[in-house]
Amino acid sequence: MLRLAIQKSGRLSEDSLNLIRECGISFLAASNKLKTEATNFPLEILYLRDDDIPGYVQDGVADLGIVGQNVLVEAGFPALEVEGLGFSKCRLSLAVPRAAAYDSIQDLQGVSIATSYPQILGDYLREKGVQAHLHTISGSVEIAPSIGLAEAICDIVSSGSTLLGNGLREVETVFRSEAVLIANQNLNAEKKELLEQLQFRMQAVRRARRNKYILLNAPAAALDQVKALLPGIKSPTVTPLAEEGWVSVQSVVNEDDFWHITSQLKAVGAEGILVLPIEKMIS
Ligand code: ATP
Ligand code: ZN
Repeated sequence: MLRLAIQKSGRLSEDSLNLIRECGISFLAASNKLKTEATNFPLEILYLRDDDIPGYVQDGVADLGIVGQNVLVEAGFPALEVEGLGFSKCRLSLAVPRAAAYDSIQDLQGVSIATSYPQILGDYLREKGVQAHLHTISGSVEIAPSIGLAEAICDIVSSGSTLLGNGLREVETVFRSEAVLIANQNLNAEKKELLEQLQFRMQAVRRARRNKYILLNAPAAALDQVKALLPGIKSPTVTPLAEEGWVSVQSVVNEDDFWHITSQLKAVGAEGILVLPIEKMIS
């Protein structure tokens, strides 16, 4: 039985639960919201504060965890990371009051900076040869300059609107983060095997999310051009249509290339283009 720790309630919770569900693992909603057991996979889910997850996994209280890289690195256990999960992407940035002069990181020499990430920020400033005074606070970092606590801040940014609303401007990116799967480093053989099964499923889900299934009709004369645009996993499936001179083509396209490719397909004469989501994709 594997014990997986996820965030109890916060920005990581929903995406973590969705990923587990999309891996085909079912579980009942926890009545006390402390832990639940899966019904069709040897997995127990623990619901914790995200800050506690790296330590619990390091100590073996939980075998696995899903947590932001920012929290993992700040806790001092980067080695626990097994793989990136592609959600909860954000960055840790330095910001100063909008009116403050700022040309380079050297302008932060001797400045006071409020942050919840003294380890990550300290490492970054050391690397840049900047000595600053760090004030560690646990929340509401963005109001520190306006209440006179610090002259700059270092905090999580996703869109930048919170910074703007507090009269701040982002000046440096200190760290880029996403949710990661972490694991205790001394799992026994049975747990390692279960972890591999879980990773296999997670990778299939992520690959499927990044790709779309595409079906279209094309003039047989344009087939070579269509094939060049849709290499597919091995090569596209091509079947003749009842109407002579036409074929149906089926393939897989990467979501990032999708719009670009469909416009080129239309340009070479493709019609009736259908695009479907893929549920799982096994390599
Ligand atoms: P807890 O109560 O569990 O301690 P928290 O308040 O520390 O929760 P959240 O705000 O829920 O944490 O954020 C959890 C994680 O989500 C962060 O550590 C970070 O990795 C990521 N995250 C934070 N802010 C954003 C954002 N604006 N966009 C995307 N991801 C974010
Ligand atoms: Zn937290």
